[in-house]
Amino acid sequence: METILNISDLSKTYQSAGRSLTVLEQINFSITAGSTNAIVGPSGSGKTTLLGLCAGLDRSSTGTVELNNINLGRLSEDQRAQVRNQYVGFIFQNFQLLPTLTALENVMVPLELRGEKNCKARATELLDKVGLADRGHHYPAQLSGGEQQRVSIARAFSNRPKLLFADEPTGNLDAETSEKVVKLLFDLNKDAGTTLVLITHDLELAAKTQRILRIKGGRLIADEKNN
Ligand code: ADP
Repeated sequence: METILNISDLSKTYQSAGRSLTVLEQINFSITAGSTNAIVGPSGSGKTTLLGLCAGLDRSSTGTVELNNINLGRLSEDQRAQVRNQYVGFIFQNFQLLPTLTALENVMVPLELRGEKNCKARATELLDKVGLADRGHHYPAQLSGGEQQRVSIARAFSNRPKLLFADEPTGNLDAETSEKVVKLLFDLNKDAGTTLVLITHDLELAAKTQRILRIKGGRLIADEKNN
């Protein structure tokens, strides 16, 4: 089976206020294209840092990240951004929508960056898919948390990513919205073969994936297959 992400001997040490803090140590795993995966573990165990390294948002201290057979460590920041734009969707824990752009414009950003035509029509279609066709002209501050999360999902889907990373995609949502969001993610996996890597505290969501990676104290302590 095709490997879409390969992480080898990965570690990350942050330098802050003259101190160094190692938050990930010797992490090894690979992710199969088209699979669904959960990363679970206590708060502060390094999950968000790990996801950022996998997606090329940040650089590791040692080890390698290969995304679609491209070694991200060898690339400049601009080149990593290009790889992300081509292959990766990222759903941030706090949504990270641009406050001065409308919902529609936020979804259009990655499409415009890729130089696609008909960005507006495609963004409208995506907003419709997440049930927000009538919210396109609203600014993030005019939307509820659940609506903002759905805009961020539409944006993450927009470049038809091979790999979708999501940091607590249901963390800020009520049960009903959470169910909708989870369905959107798994439909994308089923319909487009998008590989999912989700950080979650939600054990029900983790149980829906094919594999659970457990992180504790910056180390991968278990790698379990779900039935
Ligand atoms: P989790 O997602 O599991 O809650 P994080 O990856 O967010 O864990 O954080 C792991 C550790 O790294 C925490 O101790 C956090 O304070 C620290 N950390 C995260 N980002 C930075 C940063 N930019 N600079 C310094 N320390 C950081």
